[in-house]
Amino acid sequence: MPHVLPPGFSEASLRSVLAELALELGDGWVDAPDEPSPDHLDPFALGDPLRFAPSAVVRPGSVEEIQAVLRIANAHRLPLWTVSRGRNLGYGGTAPRVRGSVVVELSRMNRVLEVNEDLGYALLEPGVSFFDLYEHLRANGHRLWMSAPGLGWGSVVGNALERGFGQAPYGEHSAAICGLEVVMADGDLVRTGMGSIGDGRAWHVYKGGYGPSLDGLFLQSNYGIVTKMGLWLMPEPECFRACEITFARDEDFVPMIETLRPLKVGETITGSARAANAVRVAQGTTQRSRWSADPGPLTRPAIQEMVDELGIGWWNLRFGLFGPEAVVEARYRMVQDAFGRIPGAQITSRRYAGDVTEAEIEPVDRPQAGIPSMMSYAILDWLDGETGHVGFSPLSPLRGEDAVHQVQMVRSRALEHGFDYSAGLTCGTRFLNHIFMILFDPTDAEATGRARRLFEVLVREGAASGYGEYRTHLEFMDLVAEQYDFHGGSQRRLNETIKDALDPNGILSPGKQGIWPRSGDYATTSMPMRSSSVASSGRSTSSTA
Ligand code: ADP
Repeated sequence: MPHVLPPGFSEASLRSVLAELALELGDGWVDAPDEPSPDHLDPFALGDPLRFAPSAVVRPGSVEEIQAVLRIANAHRLPLWTVSRGRNLGYGGTAPRVRGSVVVELSRMNRVLEVNEDLGYALLEPGVSFFDLYEHLRANGHRLWMSAPGLGWGSVVGNALERGFGQAPYGEHSAAICGLEVVMADGDLVRTGMGSIGDGRAWHVYKGGYGPSLDGLFLQSNYGIVTKMGLWLMPEPECFRACEITFARDEDFVPMIETLRPLKVGETITGSARAANAVRVAQGTTQRSRWSADPGPLTRPAIQEMVDELGIGWWNLRFGLFGPEAVVEARYRMVQDAFGRIPGAQITSRRYAGDVTEAEIEPVDRPQAGIPSMMSYAILDWLDGETGHVGFSPLSPLRGEDAVHQVQMVRSRALEHGFDYSAGLTCGTRFLNHIFMILFDPTDAEATGRARRLFEVLVREGAASGYGEYRTHLEFMDLVAEQYDFHGGSQRRLNETIKDALDPNGILSPGKQGIWPRSGDYATTSMPMRSSSVASSGRSTSSTA
């Protein structure tokens, strides 16, 4: 198999750049196999995984080494793709948007640089995983809680930059960011906000600064490489109650959301609440073949059987209540009163001390206490054989009317395309992130094609009703960006103007989130990019492939 090459590179010119990189980093930190390693390919590709294959992976160990990588990349117009640990599996893993890019992987930079218990924050390098941070907090006796997403092996920094969610009180991870250190494309080193004054004593306590707020510029962006992040952590509460409410009928969905909203907006429930339909719950503990031998979508009687046999609801809501015991109990009574008005709603709850250990807590309650696990992996056992997944995840207001609109639209399109409707909803204070998992056999070209068509229909139809995706897989980054079309796509034009100003050679993660640099020959390569052109910016990201 020929070596995967970056656009505009020959085998010889790539080898020469890799030799330069190896001189700076040491041979062991430049990995350029003749055939891409499966570890660096999109694990759940909706087609040929080689379309998003990198040419090499480099692992700088310091800011200075990142600066050296950028100097070489600028000199040769070499596209890079930054990941912290590269465990973002549902969105492409380590794989870059532009085939042949060199992945810059930061797992060696894995120090917890500071934990401030009085003020509740940590200063982290990008290679720190959720498991690492949890171990560090426990090993040093810190009475602070973190929040983790479904898989604890990923990077805390990478997940927060991508606006990931967890279920503990600080579960909107991007909202906990306070102060970044960033290496810019030209090698300059910036500390945002209060971090740029002397030794920046208020860097991780005040999100503003003097002038524009810059932290947000580096979220889901390709404007810089983040090398340090201040992240707020919650003081360990005296106690918490893990609550679960099951709803007996599919029709209870709107009352569930309407009952939840005032409790969320009024801050009786302070952590994320997670709602899941019966299919999504069953996917965590069973295999599909237990419920149906028919490959077509699960029928209502099959779902009722799940509900009866597993003792779950058509809808299932989980959240935690946190604080001093008296406060938690008062909040619990409010929750019981409110949900008790929905006929058939069953509330169960377990109370724990705030310093509960991993061994003492029920596995299903661990996410609410920010204890990382690999629980979400269970979904990959759902289908016989291989299970690939891609998540459609639009944002909407936390309101029954919007939520039911989404559920009905997504469910009908899923069934029409022959897929089960599996829904997990993250309920923030005012928003709802509806995650529909399309599970498919990645070795089955017909099923993969159907999954892709369904996804495209959902993105377009969702946008037509005013709901946009909050994050997406490599494959759909352009399609999703195209939906943000206010004033002829002015937001994307602004994003690309900033891109050109900060990264004139277009070397940092070109195409990420549909943000393409003017420079770089990305339009004329044989990459299967989606056709998209932004007329007024004069650039085209179309490809004929
Ligand atoms: P995780 O290991 O948490 O799953 P990744 O390391 O794969 O996360 O990061 C997810 C995405 O976030 C990457 O594809 C990249 O776009 C962005 N990202 C991650 N780390 C950085 C960083 N240090 N600087 C800039 N962007 C980053």
